[in-house]
Amino acid sequence: MNSEAKVAISDAVQAFVRRELGLFIEGEVRVAHSPRRSDVFDPATGHVLTTVPDADATDVDRAVASARTAFDTHVWRGLRPADRERILLRFADVLEAHAEELAQLETLNQGKSINVARAIDVGATLEYVRYMAGSATKIVGETLDVSIPFPPGARYTAFTRHEPVGVVAGIVPWNFPMMIAVWKLVPALAAGCSVVIKPSPETPLTALRLAELAIDAGIPAGAFNVVTGGAECGAALAAHPGINKISFTGSTPTGKRVGTAAVQNMTRFSLELGGKNPAVMLADIGVEQAVRGALAGGLLNQGQVCAAVSRIYVHRSKYAKVVEGLADSVSAMTMGPGLDASAQINPLVSAHHRARVEEHLARARAEGLRFAAGGARVEEPGYYVRPAIIADVPPDAAIVRDEVFGPVLALAPFDDVAEALRLANDSPYGLAASLWTNDLRAAMSLVPQIEAGTVWVNCHVPLDPGMPFGGYKQSGIGREFGRHAIEGFTETKSVCIAH
Ligand code: NAD
Repeated sequence: MNSEAKVAISDAVQAFVRRELGLFIEGEVRVAHSPRRSDVFDPATGHVLTTVPDADATDVDRAVASARTAFDTHVWRGLRPADRERILLRFADVLEAHAEELAQLETLNQGKSINVARAIDVGATLEYVRYMAGSATKIVGETLDVSIPFPPGARYTAFTRHEPVGVVAGIVPWNFPMMIAVWKLVPALAAGCSVVIKPSPETPLTALRLAELAIDAGIPAGAFNVVTGGAECGAALAAHPGINKISFTGSTPTGKRVGTAAVQNMTRFSLELGGKNPAVMLADIGVEQAVRGALAGGLLNQGQVCAAVSRIYVHRSKYAKVVEGLADSVSAMTMGPGLDASAQINPLVSAHHRARVEEHLARARAEGLRFAAGGARVEEPGYYVRPAIIADVPPDAAIVRDEVFGPVLALAPFDDVAEALRLANDSPYGLAASLWTNDLRAAMSLVPQIEAGTVWVNCHVPLDPGMPFGGYKQSGIGREFGRHAIEGFTETKSVCIAH
């Protein structure tokens, strides 16, 4: 490890992981009803950092009751929108004051580079909180000139109100644990809802810390609760009749289970699910730009990004050079823990996930696919996988069909734009895609034909709080970000006045 680039773990982080962690209910750390606890690991070493409760259905009941009481007593939703906005802005200030602590905690628990944790997990989260705080004062309905003809001579005026949907469950994956929790928490709070967040069992630490900082910022007890646990806890939340809306981010199979459970109670739900995201690189694109774009879009957070590029289709005239450039680049990358700011390859989140990624690679090898780089097992402590560049992939190869959610890029050449479009759309997923060309006419004719919730041109992966985000096809139902985020946490009420 480069000793100069090594980040020293702060006292605050060391103190946090030494504490006896509990659930966060009614504004306090609570001992769980469930006697079970789960280990929380440092992916860079495989050592246990701490343990958290593995909450059961009774714990979920308590968290939902806490959120329900906060909702019904109007302690949060009864505030003026400007007061909710002000408190959420203060929440952003409190998070900013703890930025380095939160970034280190995320890196220690998730494995990612401290550079990514600082810039995205904390930096982009702060921008998101401030953007959404402002939404609290911009929830607007419509006035409607209705044409109701009865009784003769009657006059009516109608308008709509957006009212908070109620108690929200936010179920969160492990790749950007705090940021994705905030994607649910803050718009729900801005709309006046109360919230129960369930982080992933692999990465529960920042959500627990976030709940404490929310109290410091003035968010009332009960408006934001955290239950830690796995599938049992998540399923209990998804099936709970006291939940009015589930905002879920995770894999497509789990999302289907959540949706099925939700409709039994007519609980509203939105699903942000998996992806198998293509990049289409047309003939005019420079090799260097293509290689840089593929690395940035495909290997951020070790490819553990739902919108990461994982299928790359390159015009045949540039294909060999792009494969070679990618293979050379990843072969030269340095490997190390996320707390080494100079390391370019960091561990995956868990031993279980590394095994899953290795299975995908073994299958690609068994199918006889060509590895231009990577794919060998790393024999070191920690959950490392070297990025793999797999070339000449046929459209029916498993590595092209299945979401890997790891550092694996599959490439194939194409000869004309129609073929590239066919290959890009040939997937059950439709989360995101990118187009790489300086030909404006080609870009503008392809954008509407690509089946994806986000299409980037000459970039892949940047998000903005104002830009709707979500999936076509098996990649989800609903949109987060922008006004969609707020509307998703409200019910629309029509009011019709006869006069
Ligand atoms: P996962 O589906 O295994 O778990 C997601 C969450 O659901 C976790 O908190 C988990 O404990 C919980 N859960 C598990 N079983 C449940 C059940 N039966 N009922 C309710 N909750 C349950 O996903 P993961 O492995 O944590 O994350 C990786 C997946 O998330 C990938 O597929 C990735 O593409 C997807 N993802 C999507 C987005 C997006 O915005 N579209 C963002 C990040 C990750």
